[in-house]
Amino acid sequence: QAFPLDQVDGIFVRSVKNCIFSESDPTPLKGPLRLVAVSKEVIEGMLGLDVAVSQSEDFLQYFSGGKLFPGSSPLTHRYGGHQFGYWAGQLGDGRAHLLGEYTSRKGERWELQLKGSGKTPYSRSGDGRAVVRSSVREFLCSEAMHFLGVPTSRAASLIVSEEAVWRDQFYNGKVKKERGAVVLRLATSWFRIGSLEVLAKAEELDLLRKLLDFVIQEHFPSIDSNDPGKYLIFYSRVVNETAHLIAQWMSVGFAHGVCNTDNFSLLSITIDYGPFGFMEAYNPNFVPNTSDEEGRYSIGAQANVGLFNLEKLLEALTPFPFSSKYYDQLYHSRFHKLFKAKLDLLGEEEEDEYLIAFLLKLMEETGADFTMTFRQLSEASMQQLHNIYFCCLVERNKPFTSEMIKLSTGINPRYVLRNWMAESAIRKAEGNDFSEVELLQRILAQPYLTQDAAEEAGYAAQPPWWAQGLNVSCSS
Ligand code: AMP
Ligand code: MG
Ligand code: MG
Repeated sequence: QAFPLDQVDGIFVRSVKNCIFSESDPTPLKGPLRLVAVSKEVIEGMLGLDVAVSQSEDFLQYFSGGKLFPGSSPLTHRYGGHQFGYWAGQLGDGRAHLLGEYTSRKGERWELQLKGSGKTPYSRSGDGRAVVRSSVREFLCSEAMHFLGVPTSRAASLIVSEEAVWRDQFYNGKVKKERGAVVLRLATSWFRIGSLEVLAKAEELDLLRKLLDFVIQEHFPSIDSNDPGKYLIFYSRVVNETAHLIAQWMSVGFAHGVCNTDNFSLLSITIDYGPFGFMEAYNPNFVPNTSDEEGRYSIGAQANVGLFNLEKLLEALTPFPFSSKYYDQLYHSRFHKLFKAKLDLLGEEEEDEYLIAFLLKLMEETGADFTMTFRQLSEASMQQLHNIYFCCLVERNKPFTSEMIKLSTGINPRYVLRNWMAESAIRKAEGNDFSEVELLQRILAQPYLTQDAAEEAGYAAQPPWWAQGLNVSCSS
């Protein structure tokens, strides 16, 4: 179907009506192609294939958009979204193609998606491509998040090409030639809050109901499809899981960067890795995305933004009336539980809440590194702890003294994908050396384990001098 192009605020928008997906084929990446990273855990553990398949020419073709599986009819998803607080209208998969659903021998089903695979009906003024820089970040971070225990989409492979892609990385008018890359991503579902919003806004209520019923049936099997309260139960589940997801982000110091409703999964997994950042010096106002001038998506704002997004979901469900009132309570109880575990606070004491807040305040005032503070607290012996302020508090709170901080090293990671680490790997990758991408992938697969190679690379040390003032923006 040929859809007309409308111009909205100088951007060409192809308004697509009455559908959830549009058929659209990937545009092959221009060669020579090179597979530069692959996740063995994904290919073997999730797809049940031998990782050796990734070394074939076929693999390169299938997962860079060059070749389609027999009978496959790739789809692009129509969704909308609230961006930075405002309804942005139709967005959709502007540079991603759903290849299909894959059922592994274990019976697990995964939706396989290419990102950076060319223009679609939803590309607006975009070129449908993704550059090496942002693809390396997505590949490494989605895998790292998984090994930190945070629900996330996964990345199976990263293929780079020589195809020129032009980007104004810092929105300063300087367009630079970069190279195109395609990531093969997996998730149980790619539906987002914006998937429902676009249908509600267009008053396509039959489709809205159809999609809701489909999501519930496929992804929330414990909800009875004949239950008249099923939409309320569905909504409460999303509220619960979103509160949990954001509490988990906070517990590892992760700031997503672009918490728009189109980037919030209905299955409450982390999706769409753009200008994300792991907080270094503890600072609730940490904003990873330089384009986010107001700091709308600062790390400390994420809980509230989650609530905002859930309210937008609720609005999309108004044709099927029912509340998000438990969100606050849920988020606080999850946050509390995770931080108690990080500090190895046993039992339930009234002071716990105060203790956590006090430590965070102390960290904020001293600019203490978020990851290393918690890690060192769990690594340090009581003797060493006597040297820090926190210990004075520990001493005052009698019941905690020696029980309090045990080895919670399995909860507090030693390594997270800091910006400077990604940047160092990207600089080499841009010169065709993918060794640090591989090193990071390997280290971040065991973030809780102290590893010699990581220590040698300085991944648990202070960032190097050159990393001061590093920026990331939306351009990808
Ligand atoms: P994001 O900020 O990554 O969540 O993207 C917001 C919207 O812009 C989504 O609809 C994307 O598909 C679309 N988009 C981002 N980059 C491009 C691109 N290079 N070409 C086409 N569409 C894009
Ligand atoms: Mg997005
Ligand atoms: Mg994105």
